[in-house]
Amino acid sequence: MTGLLHAFRRIAGLCALLVAAGVGIGATSEAWAQVQMRPGATAFVTGDIIHRIKPETVKDLFPDKDVVLKSTEGRNPALEVHVGGVLKGYIFSTMDVVNATGYAGKPFDFFGGLTLDGKLTGVVLQNHSETIIGRGVPQQRMDEFLAGFAAVTIQRWGTVNPDLLAGASISGRAMKAGMQNAATRVFTTHIVGEAEVVVTEPALDRKGFALYTAQELIERGSIIGMTLTVRDAIKLFETKGGVGAWPDISPQQMERLDELFIQFNTALLSPPSIGQNMFGDERYREIVAREAANGLSIWMADKGYSSFVSNSHLRSSTGNVFDQVRIEQGGTSFLVTAPQSARILVRAAFAGDLLPSRESMVFAIPPTLGLDPLKPYKVVLIQPGFTKAGAPMTIEIPLTYDLPDMHKLLPVPVFVPAYIDIWQNELVNIGILAALLVAVTLVFLLQDVLVKNRMAYNVVRVGILGFTLVWLGWTVGAQFSIINILTYMTAPFTGTGLETFLLDPLFFILGIYIAITLFLLGRGVFCGWLCPFGALQELSNKAAILLRVPQIKIPPSLQERLWAVKYVLAIAIIGIGFYSVDMANALEEVEPFKTAINVYFIRELPYVLYAVALLAAGLFIERFYCRFLCPLGGALSVFGRIRMFKWLKRKPQCGTQCRICETDCPVGAIEPSGQINMNECLQCLDCQVDYYDDEKCPPLIARKKRKDQRTEAGIGIGVPSPMPAE
Ligand code: SF4
Ligand code: SF4
Repeated sequence: MTGLLHAFRRIAGLCALLVAAGVGIGATSEAWAQVQMRPGATAFVTGDIIHRIKPETVKDLFPDKDVVLKSTEGRNPALEVHVGGVLKGYIFSTMDVVNATGYAGKPFDFFGGLTLDGKLTGVVLQNHSETIIGRGVPQQRMDEFLAGFAAVTIQRWGTVNPDLLAGASISGRAMKAGMQNAATRVFTTHIVGEAEVVVTEPALDRKGFALYTAQELIERGSIIGMTLTVRDAIKLFETKGGVGAWPDISPQQMERLDELFIQFNTALLSPPSIGQNMFGDERYREIVAREAANGLSIWMADKGYSSFVSNSHLRSSTGNVFDQVRIEQGGTSFLVTAPQSARILVRAAFAGDLLPSRESMVFAIPPTLGLDPLKPYKVVLIQPGFTKAGAPMTIEIPLTYDLPDMHKLLPVPVFVPAYIDIWQNELVNIGILAALLVAVTLVFLLQDVLVKNRMAYNVVRVGILGFTLVWLGWTVGAQFSIINILTYMTAPFTGTGLETFLLDPLFFILGIYIAITLFLLGRGVFCGWLCPFGALQELSNKAAILLRVPQIKIPPSLQERLWAVKYVLAIAIIGIGFYSVDMANALEEVEPFKTAINVYFIRELPYVLYAVALLAAGLFIERFYCRFLCPLGGALSVFGRIRMFKWLKRKPQCGTQCRICETDCPVGAIEPSGQINMNECLQCLDCQVDYYDDEKCPPLIARKKRKDQRTEAGIGIGVPSPMPAE
């Protein structure tokens, strides 16, 4: 009795210590939760966007000086951003435009800046309630995730990767979806204008005009070019023609190795945002007038010792072609000719010395040539020279021109719910999860066959647990938590809709599977086979047993009291969660899942010590955490009481004449009476292997013995003695 009391005190103390450590860690980690918020913005500020936005947020999104913000009217509220009296773009928040909510079911104030050509200038998460993000997601990952938004255009969101937020990827996906939806709406309403006729196919923008400097057009790829010194040119000739090959320039020029061999630039002029900026209104009108309907104008210019212009275009015998340049697209070559060309200079005020003007030709490309301005094409410079032996040779220098999106009319993207994309991208993982769930289902459907072969059962059990731990847990991070249960339960009150749950296909599918199996068989299907942390405990305990680590058996009466701890924790977390998600999130740290599964123990020391302590306890007391502390297990156990079936077989002798199964049950779920306590049972099927083992189960051993005796005596062969089952 004294020993029992002693054991009770030690185990209860251990439980209390571990729970306190977990909750304590959760409480201290509240500070973490605010990492992405603006300083001092721990509470939601409500009201119009103009009153909520902070000066530093504006600066992050539009760093220009003298920014003036003006509220817009009507739908999809946003702020116009004016710089020097010119409209530069818009600032908006997902909260105003789409009221996007996170996984916590609360909206986040997520600001984005949008330029007039549909580029996101960046995002600022000014306020949110996603405390799940604050824990376990390193700041560097969060920064990387947010930085992905700065490379986004309204059509392309591929640079935003929510999977960077391991353990909080649903929150990341909700943020991406909210920002994508809001940006699309602001673009449609305020930039495209809903009344305007919009294109359904991409087209060249021959009407839209925006002021750009030469520098801006070069930086954005509207004007491209290359520069070669004499040294560079000699190197290219020698690469192709061998040492001693040289370009067709004078001996004096050959000696000036650092002088300009050629600077060549080219641009497609047809969009006014390029052509009109470069040549001014009048010359641009002339250029367009030379174009055939739907034709194009391409500008090429150079300076230096060499040129793209020879005298070939003056020779009618060779078709007046410019033989030192050609255009290529998709395997087709286009030669430009003198009749297509006109010598027109770029406005000096526009380019200064930035662009060459010695030769400045504009070529009118007829539509019959079939050059598609929306697809990349190459401008290939052909430069003449000589081999060392003096034989003529040429080198070719290709430049790829890819018209930037800002000069195209692109269909306004129809907003497609983000989960559709996510499900398409996750098809492989969905398939693997489906295979795992099929495997677990088959274990139960065929359990009577499987458990008759101990070796096969052990292989299947360890195989599935290993896969659950390594793939489901460590690889894809699909570790269920009490917070998932809380989110489902509070969804009707927080407005968290189906779309939010669909943002993570693996959790969604797993959630449905858990709900179905809870209803059919109870919590054991999940806890026994699909919980990565449960698998980690069981596999580490199996290893401990192999290493002869002594196992502590807990007396039933003591065990019953300790079981209560997990139910208390479950009730506390769920109850508090209805009142405060933040507090529930803090309490949730009693679960070591994030540390041990989602972030692979790479976390602050107290969290790691806590998780390691639980695993260490599990080496001596199998599934220590599951049995006494796990609030998720407790909650599932409560919901699992509605189970319809009990497929675990018992014999009348169980508990009365034999207690082998009771001793073998890893979680002490078999009562001294022989009955199985299904609230605690993990459906591991160990007792079912014993049930069919005619070398271990005494009633079966006795029956076998009787059968052997009859066989020896030659009587009653083939007539089994009755073996009633429960
Ligand atoms: S009791 Fe908790 S840790 Fe154990 S298997 Fe169930 S959910 Fe996982
Ligand atoms: S041994 Fe039997 S009673 Fe114990 S957990 Fe496994 S299936 Fe349940």
